[in-house]
Amino acid sequence: MNLWKRWLLPIYYYGTWPIRTGYGWLSACRGRCPIAVVVFHRVADDQATPWTCPTDVFRQQIDWLRRRFELISLAEVQDRLCEQTSRRLAVHITFDDGYADNARFALPWLLEQKVPCTYFVSVEQVRTGKPFDHDLAIGCPLPPNRSEELRQFAEAGLEIGCHSYSHRDLGPVKDPSVLEKEIVQARWELEDLLARPVRYFAFPFGVPKNISREAFRWVHRAGYEAACSAYGGYNLPGRDPFHIRRIPVDSWLLRLKNHVLFDPRKFSDPLADWIGQSSILEPVIR
Ligand SMILES: [Zn+2]
Repeated sequence: MNLWKRWLLPIYYYGTWPIRTGYGWLSACRGRCPIAVVVFHRVADDQATPWTCPTDVFRQQIDWLRRRFELISLAEVQDRLCEQTSRRLAVHITFDDGYADNARFALPWLLEQKVPCTYFVSVEQVRTGKPFDHDLAIGCPLPPNRSEELRQFAEAGLEIGCHSYSHRDLGPVKDPSVLEKEIVQARWELEDLLARPVRYFAFPFGVPKNISREAFRWVHRAGYEAACSAYGGYNLPGRDPFHIRRIPVDSWLLRLKNHVLFDPRKFSDPLADWIGQSSILEPVIR
């Protein structure tokens, strides 16, 4: 981490605390609280990668969130967006990729604590046990969760979503057969593997260049109830409830605090000009 960030973020965060607190109070009074949906990847104390959070830090982060926010389900996030009213500060927890190590602490602990969580996995990794390319690229072939384990977590109450078929960047893909496999076939196969409905989709990588209008339409056509991005951004009452904006978080608690307690950069939406329309354009395939 840059030294200037290590020093400047605490000064900025605590210096703007009165403004943040005032904004939270005002937005609650108006029924306009921003809803933050955060993304974790891997919780473990070994083989630290840039997307790994140690277990003690993860526990601190969830405990801090729980003291200040309602921890709600993704369905409840959508309800509040539909109702165009959000009177209490709320956060939803998600995970992307599906690392086997999450089964050691994070998932059992979240279930035990009754913290709602949506866990996005890629079909090919679940089916084959093959590590993700981004882990192989840094020489760290971490194992993914397998279907039997995921079935057990789903039965215990974990919401499992689809993170594409092969964790491919869907932004530049133009071939409809590829989009169909990564989005539609991925849902059907994951439902078969889990023996239960899969309701939500999360774009791999999730920043605007990884999300095309065409791919977004395929997500709706496939019958998913939501498409999740991950470029940072709040879900504000009145915005399209089909598109769930998410904020990636790491292993620094203060950065999480800064993200969810009203970072001004997260109020704008770079995809708002077209994404808000797309959920109503295409009929569902099945
Ligand atoms: Zn991913």
